[in-house]
Amino acid sequence: MRNKYGVVIGLEVHAQLKTDSKIFCGCSTRFGDEPNSNTCPVCLGLPGALPVLNEKVVEYATRTALALNLHVNEESVFSRKNYFYPDLPKGYQISQYKEPFSEHGWVEIMTGERDETGHPRDIQLKRFGITRMHLEEDAGKSLHDGMPDSDTRTYVDLNRSGTPLAEIVSEPDFRSSWEAYDYVQYLRRVLQYVETCDTNMEEGSLRCDANVSVRPVGREEFGTKVELKNLNSVRFLQRALEYEIDRQIGVIESGGEVVQETRLWNERENRTYTMRTKEDAHDYRYFPEPDLPPLRVEPAMIERIRAGLPELPEALRRRFAEQYALSHEDAVVLTGSRSLAGFFEATARASGNARSSANWIKNELLRELDSRKIEIDASPVSPERLAELIAELDAGRISGAQAKDLLPKMLRAMRCLRR
Ligand code: ADP
Ligand code: ZN
Ligand code: MG
Repeated sequence: MRNKYGVVIGLEVHAQLKTDSKIFCGCSTRFGDEPNSNTCPVCLGLPGALPVLNEKVVEYATRTALALNLHVNEESVFSRKNYFYPDLPKGYQISQYKEPFSEHGWVEIMTGERDETGHPRDIQLKRFGITRMHLEEDAGKSLHDGMPDSDTRTYVDLNRSGTPLAEIVSEPDFRSSWEAYDYVQYLRRVLQYVETCDTNMEEGSLRCDANVSVRPVGREEFGTKVELKNLNSVRFLQRALEYEIDRQIGVIESGGEVVQETRLWNERENRTYTMRTKEDAHDYRYFPEPDLPPLRVEPAMIERIRAGLPELPEALRRRFAEQYALSHEDAVVLTGSRSLAGFFEATARASGNARSSANWIKNELLRELDSRKIEIDASPVSPERLAELIAELDAGRISGAQAKDLLPKMLRAMRCLRR
């Protein structure tokens, strides 16, 4: 059944920009504080309070946009998106609509299906379009409690109200759940490299909605799309898409029609449920925000930020693969973070043996650090020390087994020395 249909997926990702203060007021964005403690008249939506745009948000947004090859518009416009919800105190969200912060971006990434063991197969370089990235404020958080047969209470915490969000909308360019998965993993990596978002999906600093449709192979037009929400990890995203693709094909094969709707992923039951159909879709009555002037970004600032961007993960992966003759999987692992990539390059330089450095870091050091819950930038064994170990091994002065035995001992010893 599956091979009679093609899949079309587009993703909407909300990334919390990790500025210290909120987008339109000076309140702290810290996570986990006493509920409603980080609030003021602006983010509580009190009448008469006026928003003022946080300059840091513009800087972080520019850095994010440039890293995704988006064109940053010199002028963009904030709009009110009107809807009613208890965690939205103003009755509208300040967002951007017609004239977004940035548009026409893309990423080029390695992607492919997975075999039964979860290993990528038929990996290839693909380009995915990014329609736009606009700025908006986050809403507060509703906390529901209560047992099925008792009163259900809902509590509202407005600490999150006014946290800056960048909404990254992709083109409908993904043709499988794994492509969508690889894209989100890559987005997370890029945002970590440019240090604009924590990308923690469980804590909600990165949130992803997926739009998916199916169509018979050979047909040009897209099928009716369904929006999936409540995807709190990349694994759930991938699984929810698989479930939804099968469900849609099942509907069509049994003579029915897919209805446009929003569905929620239920992780315990491994399925999606209808949340709302097109009939109860909101009319947001967007209009330009009268309390904020158009946002102007100076070209000089854009160029200054562009010049300060680090080498981005895909470029780095390609360079590592070529320069050090690493396998695709090794290059992906070793570019997992800027710190790890830096550690690898320093070890390769000091030891003169990139292949061995890659293997030692990937197979031994990372495992040892992981079991001790130590991050790579805090590794007690420095790249230079690890390079010495590799050099001893290369010179035949110690055996592989001895070297493997030595590494945990070095870690223990140097950890003591550091204290
Ligand atoms: P809406 O007007 O419902 O917000 P958009 O056209 O703005 O829809 O698209 C929202 C997201 O859905 C985008 O990421 C886009 O790529 C994706 N998308 C649009 N049409 C389809 C489709 N037929 N199938 C899958 N994804 C789609
Ligand atoms: Zn505030
Ligand atoms: Mg839209």
